[in-house]
Amino acid sequence: MNISSAAKKALIPVEREIMFQPVEHLYQLNNQGKVIIHLKGNTDSVNIKYMQDNLISTHNHPEKSYYNNFLSTSDIICAIKLRNREVRAITQDGYCHLAEIPEMDFFEKFNCQCTLIRYKDLFKKEGYSWSLIRKMKKEIEKAYGIKFRTILLPKN
Ligand SMILES: [Zn+2]
Repeated sequence: MNISSAAKKALIPVEREIMFQPVEHLYQLNNQGKVIIHLKGNTDSVNIKYMQDNLISTHNHPEKSYYNNFLSTSDIICAIKLRNREVRAITQDGYCHLAEIPEMDFFEKFNCQCTLIRYKDLFKKEGYSWSLIRKMKKEIEKAYGIKFRTILLPKN
């Protein structure tokens, strides 16, 4: 487990709040559960310029499309760049798609981002499929220790 129980508890009301928002909201919390950053974007992105390092990030995916039902390659690339402990995306079905990011050195970060960019291009070329998403997750789980999970948001 990468994040404290205080942070985990603090994420619940934040994620329930943003779950049905029509545009993306991004929150960053520290490991004590304090909200540090709140950014509002459009239907499919948030300007990441104001995001900070070393925090826990969560955001909603407002559009109910197939490819929105998991963390995007851009979500994960950004999380690695900013050394997020954890990155989470909430979908309107009440699920949270998360990745726990371990400590990575410069070369691991670089290589992992290259792998993700390769998959990003593949998704663009071949479209999204569960088998390709699964393959990507397996590959970066194995090589870099990033852990992917999907959880049902607790009711309260
Ligand atoms: Zn996202």
